[in-house]
Amino acid sequence: MIFVTRFAPSPTGPLHLGHAFSAITAHDMARAAGGRFLLRIEDIDRARARPEWEAAIFEDLAWLGLSWDGPVMRQSTRLPAYRAALAHLWDLGLLYPCTCTRRDILSALDAPQEGVTLGPDGPVYPGTCRTVARDGPMPGDAVLRLDMARALRRIGDAVTFIETGVGPDGQSGRITVPQADLLAGVGDVVLARRDMGTSYHLAVVTDDAAQGVTHVVRGQDLFEATAIHRVLQALLDAPAPTYCHHRLIRDAAGKRLAKRDDARAIRTYRAEGATPADIRRMVGL
Ligand code: GLU
Repeated sequence: MIFVTRFAPSPTGPLHLGHAFSAITAHDMARAAGGRFLLRIEDIDRARARPEWEAAIFEDLAWLGLSWDGPVMRQSTRLPAYRAALAHLWDLGLLYPCTCTRRDILSALDAPQEGVTLGPDGPVYPGTCRTVARDGPMPGDAVLRLDMARALRRIGDAVTFIETGVGPDGQSGRITVPQADLLAGVGDVVLARRDMGTSYHLAVVTDDAAQGVTHVVRGQDLFEATAIHRVLQALLDAPAPTYCHHRLIRDAAGKRLAKRDDARAIRTYRAEGATPADIRRMVGL
C-alpha cells in the first residue's frame, strides 16, 4: 500500500506554528515512506475564505521547503461529490432537515448555563427536528443533520475504532470511542449547512476517500471530529485512514494558538528573520 497523506488548511487566516507542525510532520512522513504528500484547500466557508490567505499558504509552504504531489484539490469545486454523499445518506434515512436556530437549540436544552454538553461543533443538539418526515427527495437548500442513533444502529460496533499512529496523549494503537459517547457527547451533527451545501465533516471524509488518503496527520483538537469521520466512513463505505493526532502547539503562556493569533503566524517569524530550521525547532521537530 502506498502511503498517502495530506495537508488541508482553510484559507481563513495566516498559517501558524500548529499548521507548520501538521504540514512538516505529514510531509516528512510521506517522504520517509516514499509516499505522497497532497495539498487540499478547504475553502467551503465562502464567507471566510480569502484568495489572499490561499496565496499566503502557498508562500509559507514553499518557504518551509515543503513540496506537494499532484494538483491541489479545492473543496469549493467539489460540491457535486458532497451532494452525492449526502443523497446516499438521505436515501438510507439517516439525515433530517433542521430549522432550529442557535437560540432555539439553547432554549430547548435544560438549564443552558450549566447543563449544556459541548460537542466538537458546539452544544449537542437536543433532537427537536428529528421527527421531521424524511420521505421524498432530499431538500436542496436545508440544514441536514445526521441521525446519530440510527447511524450507529446501522454500522454496529466495529467502526467505533480509530486507528492511530500517535494518540491525543501520545499513545498509539486502537482507540475505541464508545457509542454512548458519540450519542451523548457528539449527537446529531450538521452534515450540510444551508450556506455551504456541505459541512467540514462531510467534505473531509469525501475528499480523503477521493484522494486515497491512507494517513491523516492533525492536531489533537480534532480528535472528537475524527470519531465523527469514522462513523461517516463506515456509512459511506469509505476506507479508514490511520490517524495521527499530534500535540497542540501552545504559546509561552500555555494558550492554544488560534488563527487570529497573528503574532504566532509563520509569516511573522519569517519577517523577523527566522529560518525554516528555526520553525522546525520551535515546534519541537
Ligand atoms: N481545514 C481544517 C483545518 O485547517 C482541517 C484539517 C483536517 O481535517 O485535518 O483545521
